[in-house]
Amino acid sequence: MATIQITLPDGAKRDVQSGTTPADIARQISPGLAKEALVARVNGELWDLSRPLDHSTSLAILTPKDPEAIQVLRHSAAHLMAAAVIELFPDVKLGIGPPIENGFFYEFLRPESFTQEDLERIENKMHELAAQNVPNERKLVPKPEALKLYRDSKQEFKCELVEEKATEPMVSFYTTGKFIDFCRGPHIPSTGRIRAFKLTNVAGAYWKGHEGNPQMQRIYALCFYTEAELNEYLHKLEEAKRRDHRKLGPELDLFSIQDEAGPGLIFWHPKGGLIRRLVEDWLRDELQRRGYDLVFTPHVMRLDLWKTSGHTGFYRDNMFSPIEIEKADYQIKPMNCPGHILIYKSHLRSYRELPLRFAELGTVYRYERTGVLHGLLRVRGFTQDDAHIFCRPDQIESEVEACVDFAFAVMKTFGFDRYEVELSEWDAAHPENYAGKPEDWNRATAALADTLSRMKVPYKRIEGEAAFYGPKIDIKLIDAIGRPWQLTTVQFDFNLPSRFGLEYVGEDGARHQPLMVHRALLGSVERFFGILIEHYAGAFPAWLAPVQASILPVSGKFSDYAKSVEDKLRVAGIRVHLDDRNEKLQAKIRDAQLQKIPYMLIVGGKEAESGAVSVRHRTKGDLGPQPLEQFLAALRQEVDARRSS
Ligand SMILES: [Zn+2]
Ligand SMILES: [Zn+2]
Repeated sequence: MATIQITLPDGAKRDVQSGTTPADIARQISPGLAKEALVARVNGELWDLSRPLDHSTSLAILTPKDPEAIQVLRHSAAHLMAAAVIELFPDVKLGIGPPIENGFFYEFLRPESFTQEDLERIENKMHELAAQNVPNERKLVPKPEALKLYRDSKQEFKCELVEEKATEPMVSFYTTGKFIDFCRGPHIPSTGRIRAFKLTNVAGAYWKGHEGNPQMQRIYALCFYTEAELNEYLHKLEEAKRRDHRKLGPELDLFSIQDEAGPGLIFWHPKGGLIRRLVEDWLRDELQRRGYDLVFTPHVMRLDLWKTSGHTGFYRDNMFSPIEIEKADYQIKPMNCPGHILIYKSHLRSYRELPLRFAELGTVYRYERTGVLHGLLRVRGFTQDDAHIFCRPDQIESEVEACVDFAFAVMKTFGFDRYEVELSEWDAAHPENYAGKPEDWNRATAALADTLSRMKVPYKRIEGEAAFYGPKIDIKLIDAIGRPWQLTTVQFDFNLPSRFGLEYVGEDGARHQPLMVHRALLGSVERFFGILIEHYAGAFPAWLAPVQASILPVSGKFSDYAKSVEDKLRVAGIRVHLDDRNEKLQAKIRDAQLQKIPYMLIVGGKEAESGAVSVRHRTKGDLGPQPLEQFLAALRQEVDARRSS
């Protein structure tokens, strides 16, 4: 038998007999590795551990530590589920069963619907088969034989797949007990490692996604390596449901979307509006401090302007239709950029004026399909915290740095401490797809990268992800339950300055084109509000809470004193609510808790006598009696510091 040479990831080489399997090599390396191994990577391709090696190649043994391995486990779990279904419901027709994010599905055709009870039975059967540690075996079958096999077992969908997808004379099959599947693989060696899964739901799906085709039943499942990971994920789902801004919005009376007005359009109720004002006030103060100029631009402008900017070309699908007035077409703005450009162009600029930073809380309207609208997160009308920076090439690094620093200030202020940064570059092999010269791209990309490195901000470079008009930095915040949210964008633009013929007079007296950067920190105020609601689960920190303290008199007897407490707090600038309903104290506390009001101030005889309040915090519980002045001073401090908890 021939000898082949295997190169391991650390560069070590091993000479082995042709026909040796990755599993054999894993055993030679260490029993621990053999036990952990799930699948191999052979010359870049995923490969069964039991599949013989017949040529010299590179080889890696993958364990749960390797990110690619989990999808192989999930794919094998899909086969395990199909094996269980075949045992319980032998007449089902099989569709496809791929791994997906966090789990897998398999689809079946069956006249009756799968019920919740069926799912439980399937899940139990899967555990039974997993415990038997049934091997997943690969075999090659000539194509005609494969077709006959499926025809005999009346699996017409599988016949269709073999006809379409099998391009070689030999077709690869995997068997798990009685279940046999036309499948490219690879799979984990046997079912014993599939332990942590949960069938979640059944959904209808047309065969191959084409309407008119038979409707399959897809059984969806979650699947992880361990029970602990599965439970953590289930907990996260539960949490996400509890925090859903579409549920909390009406419960806390923050905002609404009214069918009468149209989809994707947001009504900010008094409490939501108050939070919005606080967010905007903070932002405007910061803009002022950081050398931005606040501008305002019209909501409707001539369509011709959008032709100059190019939006009628590459952005048309996202725009509302034009409106005709006095035989001229006008466009509701989908972006603020052209407006800011017109302000820049209103007179000739000198190098001494730069950088110019025009900021606007600019409301824009975009046509989003009804199907993609989602609460506050995807809407048709929204207000961007938009800014455009016009600067000289020698100023670009400090401008980018200032933007990133501003983004970090947003995160700190609103209680986010984790983030991810991405740098989107162009695809240098296809300069024809982009606006701007290669040297512009290289310089701008280097400016972004150097700035991030200098600031010691870890980031990921993504080639080919840039918009056609320039490279960008995206910052994603990670919220309280670990979900990433795309927020800040710092985006170069080589397109608009040349389309609008922007220029400034340089030190040399000649005309130059300024660099232009679009940047939004919150993205849109609506979306940011949605994220904040979910991040805080509706329990806004005291500085943002629409009602900071609720006064709860224990009975009507103390309403005069309660009223005096209310007046004092209100005059001191505290947002306060007096709950003087004729209700039991317990009911008032419960309602204040449900409204997630940070402080409840309980007042009765003892408090009235001593000018005190009994303080109760929504999460810390009873904090005992305090002189009113003391409570007020502490709350003031908490609000001024914008403490997040
Ligand atoms: Zn498969
Ligand atoms: Zn812009």
